[in-house]
Amino acid sequence: MEKWLSTWSIGQQGKLNDFENIKEAGFEGVEILTEQLRAIEYLQYAKRSGLKVSIHLPFHDLNLATPDPFIYERVSSVLSMWIELIAEYGGYHATLHGGYAWSSEERYDSLLRVKERLVILGEKANQLGIELAFENLIPDKLNYCHHIASNVEEWISLINETSVKACLDTGHLACMGGNMEETIERLGNSLVAIHLSDNDRNSDLHLLPGEGGDITKGLFHFLEKSSFKGPIVYEINPYKYSLEDIFTHLISLKQKR
Ligand SMILES: [Zn+2]
Repeated sequence: MEKWLSTWSIGQQGKLNDFENIKEAGFEGVEILTEQLRAIEYLQYAKRSGLKVSIHLPFHDLNLATPDPFIYERVSSVLSMWIELIAEYGGYHATLHGGYAWSSEERYDSLLRVKERLVILGEKANQLGIELAFENLIPDKLNYCHHIASNVEEWISLINETSVKACLDTGHLACMGGNMEETIERLGNSLVAIHLSDNDRNSDLHLLPGEGGDITKGLFHFLEKSSFKGPIVYEINPYKYSLEDIFTHLISLKQKR
């Protein structure tokens, strides 16, 4: 099972040396968070360090569910640009957030738009040899706006109806209230990447595994018996942990085996 690291965990001031250390610590690849200030340099550092690469597409200003055609045009062009770039770098997957409906009442219309847009983007990614990995999000507990996808049923329906792949975020799933093993089984071959972190099942804390409610207990063992071949991407909070903390965690895992 390949372990990868999200470049979010490096922080904004990463150097080539950090990427070499990540490789040395046993990570086989990195998922570049494209919203980071030096995302392009990180992509170059990763390649120079012999790490495999994928990307997490930008999302904060780019709402895939937007009803505004001009904003969608911009969303589509920026996401396509990143997919083309990661294909040039020989990448594997592009993780995507489905955006959000402006209000919960508007969610059905938003879901239809997201469905159409996932098909278009998924085909584009496919043509370039990149797997579009649609990630599960955290429900808005106020039920004011509606994040897509907010629950396992909605997420799996969109995946099945659009033929895109899936990135399972373990922290988000715990906040959704979904069962990990059952969800992995239901995703089957659609599952191409996992975002790994721990939390208290309420907030998306991005803790090292075992430092919250231990929500990923037994995950590695379970995956070894499954058909999952993708990377497990550690998505660990850079404002709480250093790279050294993450490397120490990895060493302790090896010692337990
Ligand atoms: Zn994630």
